[in-house]
Amino acid sequence: MNEYNWCHNPDCHKIETQSRVRGTGDNKVLRTMKIKVGRYNYSNGNTPNIYDYFCNQNCLHQFLQKFCVEIANTYSVKQPSETPIKVKTEKYESYRYRWSGNEHIREPYQATRKIIENKA
Ligand SMILES: [Zn+2]
Repeated sequence: MNEYNWCHNPDCHKIETQSRVRGTGDNKVLRTMKIKVGRYNYSNGNTPNIYDYFCNQNCLHQFLQKFCVEIANTYSVKQPSETPIKVKTEKYESYRYRWSGNEHIREPYQATRKIIENKA
């Protein structure tokens, strides 16, 4: 399958790299990058990838910065979501350092941590 996309960053063609230079003689331009769809599809599935639409992270983030309000309004989050979990609290021995005046002294103490055991 030879399908291509143009990079979706509207300013892709303004970034000065040798790879964007096209044209002959005095008619040179910087052109939007052409992207081969599935170029990072190592598992050969048909899972869409963000880099089928953006030539690199820089263009992706320029796009997100330019359209962040539109994206947030289109996919708005009006309330938090929650994932039910079970939590186990575990005690363990940890260390902290105390300054004695001329050196740091390593002191053990009983600390606790929360372990997320499973998702419902
Ligand atoms: Zn680009």
